[in-house]
Amino acid sequence: MTRFPQLDAFRGGPGLVRLIGHRGARGVMPENTLEGFLFTLSAGVPLLEFDVVLTRDGVPVVTHNHHLDGAATRDADGNWLAGQGPRVSDLTLEALQGHDVGGVDVRSPYGARFADQVFLSGVPVPRLGDVLDLANDPRHGDVHFLLELKSDPDQRDDPQARAAAVEAVVTEVRARGQASRTILHSFDWRLLDACRRAAPEMPTSYLSQMPQTPSELCEAMALAGLPEDALSAERSLPLIVADAGGQLWCPNAQDVTPTLVVEAQALGLIVLAWTVNETEEIDRMIEAGVDGIVTDYPGRVQHRLRLRGASW
Ligand code: MG
Repeated sequence: MTRFPQLDAFRGGPGLVRLIGHRGARGVMPENTLEGFLFTLSAGVPLLEFDVVLTRDGVPVVTHNHHLDGAATRDADGNWLAGQGPRVSDLTLEALQGHDVGGVDVRSPYGARFADQVFLSGVPVPRLGDVLDLANDPRHGDVHFLLELKSDPDQRDDPQARAAAVEAVVTEVRARGQASRTILHSFDWRLLDACRRAAPEMPTSYLSQMPQTPSELCEAMALAGLPEDALSAERSLPLIVADAGGQLWCPNAQDVTPTLVVEAQALGLIVLAWTVNETEEIDRMIEAGVDGIVTDYPGRVQHRLRLRGASW
């Protein structure tokens, strides 16, 4: 018996590439909403990626940014928030759920990116518990969660704050009985260290994005909690992730090469590439041999896989 049964749902194989719905199915449904997750499940995609932050009253909620995004959030009167909205950690759950995240403002650059996304109204930011409870419906017996913990930039260097944030999330996952379906996922690798200590029964998934400039490299390494010279010809990202104790490596698709995928899989890692939306890149990821593809457009990935006679 494997130590982490939930990994089996994310591991690819010959003719099998896992498909993970990014924030549900952001290309076609409002992101990080119960409506989006239900759509994704109904589309035959049981692997859900989403983002978790905490409210002022300590409730883990599913939303991408630390601030409500004016391009995707309306107030109780139906007006778009101007620019950056309030910090989620400054709002109680009740105040947060007074906002509507059922669509994007088409006049904003962000909204313009998602011309195929349906527009709904009366959609609140869900609690983490509401999303985890989807697994209790027998129709969704195969659902698994790729739960991204967002590192609070104001508390990134505070180990106690990190531990408290992890504890709140882990407590909720356990209370809903979903630890065996959940993988903990983050760009903040120190947060993943805290996850491993708090929840040894849940695997950890290491997000990465190779920086383009030296200053971005500094920032990325700092976020991962690594020295600036951690990466070298002898020390690849897969090796660093495996050494750190991770089970999954989730690179930006632009950084994926067949060689790195082979290296990662030989180290026992599962490789999930993000966020893969365009046909050419979907094909490139399939050919590179990744275990899974994180996408805003599950239908597009299904189409490319079916053309090859592959499943997900
Ligand atoms: Mg995410």
